[in-house]
Amino acid sequence: MKKNALTKKQRKTLKRILIALTIFIVLQVVSAVGAFDALPAGAGLWVQFALFLVPYLLAGYDVLAKAWHGIVHRQPFDENLLMAIATLGAFALVFFPEAEPHMAEGAAVMLFYQVGELFESYATNKTRKSIAAMMDIAPDYANIEDGEGNLVQVDPATVAVGDVIVVKPGERVPLDGEVVEGKSQLDTSALTGESVPSVVEPGVAAISGCINMTGVIRIKVKAPFAESTVSRILELVENASEKKARTERFITRFARYYTPIVVGLAVLIAVVSPFFGETLTASVQSALIFLVVSCPCALVISVPLSFFGGIGAASRIGVLVKGSSYMETLAHTETVVFDKTGTLTSGTFNVVAVHNEDHIDPDLLLSYAAHAEAYSDHPIAVSVKESYEGVIDQSQIDHVEERSGRGVAAEVRAHKVLVGNDKLMREAHVDFKDCELVGTILHVAVDGEYAGHIVIADVLKPDAKDTVAALRAAGVKRIVMLTGDREEVAAAVAGELGIDEYRSQLLPADKVAEVERLLGETSEAGKLAFVGDGINDAPVLMRADIGIAMGAMGSDAAIEAADVVLMDDKPSKIATAMKISHKTMGIVWQNIVFAIGVKIAIMILALPFIGIATMWLAVFGDVGVAIIAILNAMRALRVK
Ligand code: ADP
Ligand code: MG
Repeated sequence: MKKNALTKKQRKTLKRILIALTIFIVLQVVSAVGAFDALPAGAGLWVQFALFLVPYLLAGYDVLAKAWHGIVHRQPFDENLLMAIATLGAFALVFFPEAEPHMAEGAAVMLFYQVGELFESYATNKTRKSIAAMMDIAPDYANIEDGEGNLVQVDPATVAVGDVIVVKPGERVPLDGEVVEGKSQLDTSALTGESVPSVVEPGVAAISGCINMTGVIRIKVKAPFAESTVSRILELVENASEKKARTERFITRFARYYTPIVVGLAVLIAVVSPFFGETLTASVQSALIFLVVSCPCALVISVPLSFFGGIGAASRIGVLVKGSSYMETLAHTETVVFDKTGTLTSGTFNVVAVHNEDHIDPDLLLSYAAHAEAYSDHPIAVSVKESYEGVIDQSQIDHVEERSGRGVAAEVRAHKVLVGNDKLMREAHVDFKDCELVGTILHVAVDGEYAGHIVIADVLKPDAKDTVAALRAAGVKRIVMLTGDREEVAAAVAGELGIDEYRSQLLPADKVAEVERLLGETSEAGKLAFVGDGINDAPVLMRADIGIAMGAMGSDAAIEAADVVLMDDKPSKIATAMKISHKTMGIVWQNIVFAIGVKIAIMILALPFIGIATMWLAVFGDVGVAIIAILNAMRALRVK
């Protein structure tokens, strides 16, 4: 299908409106040259009445039908009924002998209303589609080699973990896995907004949804399709409209009261003002204008559309916002709390030194540590395993126990091994030695005896420093770092980044308590965001007003628990997402103030005894305002 094309239904409506519009213009011209006046008195009016009914019915028969349907089903208060009453009312003025005829306005209101409706459905479609297009990451197939070495295309959902798939240049990576053969560049822009391609070669992870650009690669599948990055993202985006923002709910509620109140006022004006000396025509006309501007569609459509656009803009830069309520919260974030490891730092540790006790060989120390960490996904564990040069023999490992915030305990080759920090050693009553080096210290104990420690160091993410400045520029008042790591490391990282507050040596539960304390210190309207990688901090992600997780290397639990996911693990994207949220909220409020303001102004001008407003102005107050608000809402979709 061609991009931006109208749907079949929209095209049909457009045709109908254009024909009605042509007839309408011809009639207006005929009437302007005075042709109707040439007819005998009285007859001219009725001829006009009949003629203007043609474009009116052609353009609006479906509105009348829907209004009737609403009445029959006892749910009359919708815009169709309002339109029907207002336009039929304009035509009905012909029955008041002293009234000026308003058939042209009646037909025009219906025509422009339909033009507006068409535009609305086009704009809504377009916004939704552009997110879908951006999110056009779903793979159609995966290539698998059959017995004879031929490639066959299969449904990605049928590929098993451990299978090897082949991805040719120009194809989308269908499943998450690790490259086992070939070298290529991957275009990750659909996922992260990052325009620089990432280079992959054997041993490097390939993420589903990326496009393979240059070479043929073979990928060993690491997760079933349902758990792949692509499936998870699509699920998040599909559910995003369910979590409505407060502003959005407010507008829905507002519309529920606004319409009946204005309709009530219209009835009141029509019935009461003639008794105070206003002419019947003027009273009815005031009432009709009220009816036309009582339609809240400018708000009801543009507000959700703005949020949708904002979510779309964020996903373009690789930030998945799980609902418009989080868009709103982002805009009001006052305190940002960071986890350290894997969030501000890259989470890939280098071994700086191995300080073994005399009775044990350094390689053996490392081997014990690597084996004990075999089943852990903690960045520390991953790094230790990577720096260990031998092979990890899983059959030598037993009784593995992860002690979050402290380390691991396991039986390796029938020896009880502990690997972790001071806390872990103290709990096991192992005497350990301190280290003068700055870095994270992994103490190792074997059978209750201290065996030495491994000093590891992490590096800051390249954008960590800019993040702090960018957040302050985006209006964040307080930035705090929480970590389970040593005081020395925490102080060094915080100092380097210019973060004024930090807490170290926290257990996961301490982090929750700390966030709760900080929540108590935020202002009434201010919100608290927690940013983590989800290793050991999923409970904190849930507790914060808004939980932000690293998507690429974060754990599944984090992506589940989080409200916002950073696809490329760059904390600086939070500041960009906040800017988008500010812009979105700005647009939302512009639309609310503009639409309500114009409508109230028109109602005042239309009041009996003032009577300056015309039906034409009322049409603008309905359709014109809606179109302007929608155009404004569509700005939210644009980034930069
Ligand atoms: P952070 O708050 O910096 O993200 P964590 O709460 O994940 O850190 O861990 C806190 C500390 O607990 C680490 O600095 C480390 O000393 C210890 N630790 C946690 N998990 C492990 C592990 N798998 N192996 C060794 N030490 C660990
Ligand atoms: Mg962590």
